[in-house]
Amino acid sequence: MDFRLTHEQEQIRDMVREFAESELKPHINEWDEAQHFPVDTFKKAGELGLLGVIFPEEYGGTAQSYVDYVNVIEELAAVESGFALSVAAHNSLGTGHIYLAGNEEQKKKWLPKLTSGEWIGAWGLTEPGSGSDASGMRTTAVKDGDEWVLNGTKNFITNATYADISVVLTVTDRNDQKHGITAFAVEMDRKGIRAGKKENKLGMRVSDTAELVMEDCRVPEGNILGRIGYGFIDAMKVLDGGRISIAALSLGVARGAYDAARNYAKQRTAFGKPIAEFQAIQFMLADMATEIDAARLLTMRAATVKDAGERVTQFSAMAKLYASEVAVRCTEKGVQIFGGYGFIKEFPAEKYYRDVKLCTIGEGTSEIQRMVIARNLLAEG
Ligand SMILES: Cc1cc2nc3c(=O)[nH]c(=O)nc-3n(C[C@H](O)[C@H](O)[C@H](O)COP(=O)(O)OP(=O)(O)OC[C@H]3O[C@@H](n4cnc5c(N)ncnc54)[C@H](O)[C@@H]3O)c2cc1C
Repeated sequence: MDFRLTHEQEQIRDMVREFAESELKPHINEWDEAQHFPVDTFKKAGELGLLGVIFPEEYGGTAQSYVDYVNVIEELAAVESGFALSVAAHNSLGTGHIYLAGNEEQKKKWLPKLTSGEWIGAWGLTEPGSGSDASGMRTTAVKDGDEWVLNGTKNFITNATYADISVVLTVTDRNDQKHGITAFAVEMDRKGIRAGKKENKLGMRVSDTAELVMEDCRVPEGNILGRIGYGFIDAMKVLDGGRISIAALSLGVARGAYDAARNYAKQRTAFGKPIAEFQAIQFMLADMATEIDAARLLTMRAATVKDAGERVTQFSAMAKLYASEVAVRCTEKGVQIFGGYGFIKEFPAEKYYRDVKLCTIGEGTSEIQRMVIARNLLAEG
């Protein structure tokens, strides 16, 4: 096992680091305060290939590996995790579902627009009444002649306000427990679909989160993604990959919080010496660094298994569960090390602390990850 990045991987990491430092860092407080999603900067990320990281060149992607994708998301998240969340939702959820389940015609039509950043993608599974229990969704798609008529509301949808196309999961046969859900790709300029209420959030405030409302939205048969009745099965596969990106996001935030705390501890003095000389502070930094490294190993294992084309459900759930909970612990320690300044918005610690909580919730809560892991463990012979 070689844990080092290749020269090319280091170059990609450095390019993203430079983008985050120059394009994101100067604006984070202003954007966070205003809950502003910087569309133009998002498009710039597209020009750099960051919106098509994991897709083949024939669809306009940069054909990188999941290991590269982890590096991209980590670097963005270490600086602006809300922006990283939007990049992750665009790549592995919206665009990822079309790539996974779309036919050749659909991929040729939509993927180049998404991978270049000309279009922004969203993915709607969650509804007001069903999150963890996603199969309990109420949005329906009913066939009417050559078209399907979609009705329902998705909520907490990343990028919904700015999306040009959204993948939505709908009930097509309520009586079929296994094959009753179908995915549609819906262009947002179609009549009957619109973004609804934008959420006012604790953290990840730079990422747009809004409802997706469908009222008699008519879409042609050609917008069905994959086989009728296989939408939920495909959605679970999409989440297998997506959860690796949430693990990467967690790594980025945890590392950002650690770096800030370490630097602060070396500068801040109390009782006549830098607080970094107190063992209590040193032990917090040691625990943070150790747990971040352990989380990185789990995340890279999941990415490597995904790159090998093997089943990754258990590994991605383990990486997402562990990395997100580590990140919550690290950001809490980060605030503690900053003392009173950890509570003040001009210092970086409090934003990491607010932003990271989403990582234990989005794309399946920690409880759901434990259920997925246990189910897989118990299914082993
Ligand atoms: C900022 C943000 C962005 C998001 N982006 C998207 C997106 O782009 N697309 C999308 O589809 N969704 C998105 N989501 C939704 C997210 O995936 C859900 O919020 C999440 O899956 C949890 O669902 P819920 O909120 O309905 O909580 P619930 O399912 O109501 O859970 C409430 C609590 O009950 C627990 N619980 C539920 N069932 C069980 C069980 N069987 N055993 C033990 N405990 C259980 C949960 O772990 C949790 O602690 C986003 C959410 C947020 C906050």
